Amino acid sequence: MSLPVRPAYDLVVVGSGPTGSTYVREVYDHHPTARVLLLDAGPRLSDPPGLHVKNIQDPAERARAQRASEGPGPAGRPGTRLLGTPELPAAAVSTNVGGMGAHWTGACPRPGDGERIGLIADDELDTHLTRAERLLNVTAHSFDQAPFADEVRRRLSAHFDPGRPAHRRVAPMPLAVTPRPDGAHTWSGTDVVLGAAARDERVEIADLCLCLRVVLDGGTVTGVVVKDLTTGEERGIAARAVVVAADALRTPQLLHASGVRPAALGRYLNDQPQIVHAVRLPDEVVAAHRAVTGRTRDEDGAIVPQSGVSWVPYTDAQPFHGQVMQLDASPVPLADGAGIEPGAVVGLGWFCAKDVKSDDRVEFTDGVTDAHGLPDMRIHYRYTDDDLTTIEQAKKAVTEAGAALGVPLGDAPVLLPAGSSLHYQGTTRMGPADDGTSVCDSHSRVWGTQGLWVAGNNVIPTATACNPTLTSVALAVRGARALLAHLARADERTPVSPA
Ligand code: FAD
Repeated sequence: MSLPVRPAYDLVVVGSGPTGSTYVREVYDHHPTARVLLLDAGPRLSDPPGLHVKNIQDPAERARAQRASEGPGPAGRPGTRLLGTPELPAAAVSTNVGGMGAHWTGACPRPGDGERIGLIADDELDTHLTRAERLLNVTAHSFDQAPFADEVRRRLSAHFDPGRPAHRRVAPMPLAVTPRPDGAHTWSGTDVVLGAAARDERVEIADLCLCLRVVLDGGTVTGVVVKDLTTGEERGIAARAVVVAADALRTPQLLHASGVRPAALGRYLNDQPQIVHAVRLPDEVVAAHRAVTGRTRDEDGAIVPQSGVSWVPYTDAQPFHGQVMQLDASPVPLADGAGIEPGAVVGLGWFCAKDVKSDDRVEFTDGVTDAHGLPDMRIHYRYTDDDLTTIEQAKKAVTEAGAALGVPLGDAPVLLPAGSSLHYQGTTRMGPADDGTSVCDSHSRVWGTQGLWVAGNNVIPTATACNPTLTSVALAVRGARALLAHLARADERTPVSPA
């Protein structure tokens, strides 16, 4: 199915990734009659829709699903397409039902210190983060059995924990994953976020359905114009509210195409500079903690029960977020690599908080369009002197962490090309006032409009270093409260939900 079947909905959500799906789920759970349309430009990969591709058992089937999410053009990491933007060379997007949420690693750390959203009271933000963890099925215990994980954390703790408050010490990484009785894992895609909403006729999911623009009348949303990507047919759909959750690059694109152009639209683009390194645990540690072996990795080399994922949280004093993953194969060639014990190679990924600048931006030019007829994007992006200092500090921290863990593999830590983290933020960021430095309020309502919300990492106003999806899902939970109030007011004016 491509074009929606109804002429009108209470809510249309553009983009079916984790944040768009959160709006659908919250409205479905809390509004007994609301008719919701969730549309995505990409194909439906699975039944139920939004399944994480790692849960597809057949490797050929999984590879097909990844390729279908990439679309035409050069592929990035499996399931993503590179945009080919010189200043952010690794910038990539996924186009499929479930968005990047069908391909992600599922790391869900809570933001801390300066990563927190100052606009929202700490206890309220924590309540929404707790709800986000439930929507994504987050647990920190999925890899409790991983070999050497305790030893890895003991060594990291000895190095990083002195002086840190209890909640910012080295810990197992919270992951959006459910351990199964057979020892395997089910990864959370947006099927988990949507829950029963995906199987109810009140919620319609339209795939291969591109939103061309949001339609407003005097600043009030009246609907969307969509295009069936299989037939080319275009149609207007009426809606009482619209959420644009089309990722941090295509959300501002759609607002621009719709004539909604707050001064901050597309600006404050930030991604987390990412530094990687690998070490091997010392032989005596491996000998002392020799693990029970078994299935060690799935076909594409992804982490499995024998792997461990540890977390070195961001603090203002050490403004990096460390993701430490035990592997069962070395990412660099080893002369004696044949005998590696599963879990004994440790990959270190350090994400840095970027200096947020309005000049870092995705720019659109009227009259220049992409293959879909939407405004063409040009990205402006550079590291400031402060960023270069942070990156050097992070390299030093990774080197020290590696030395605390074991024997370095390969040369010094490496800075990946800009955009590699896939954590693009800020382009429709929230702010306290409509003063030109933000696109939406703290409930994600676009300034100067009625009935229009934005969602995604793009609403995060702070420079986070942690993986941002949990935070943006929490902000979507908050936004959905305001959206439900909007629908309740609309119900009072016109009690009957559109058929
Ligand atoms: P997305 O998931 O990007 O979904 C946006 C959707 O909008 C897409 O499906 C797209 O097709 C659709 N769309 C765009 N434009 C239109 C239009 N005009 N009309 C209709 N539909 C449109 N994050 C973490 O926090 N932790 C991790 O461990 C992590 N690991 C990752 C690993 C990989 C390999 C990848 C690819 C991503 C990872 N991420 C991780 C990032 C995470 O997946 C994203 O932060 C998250 O999916 C963003 O959710 P979203 O709902 O904002 O947008």
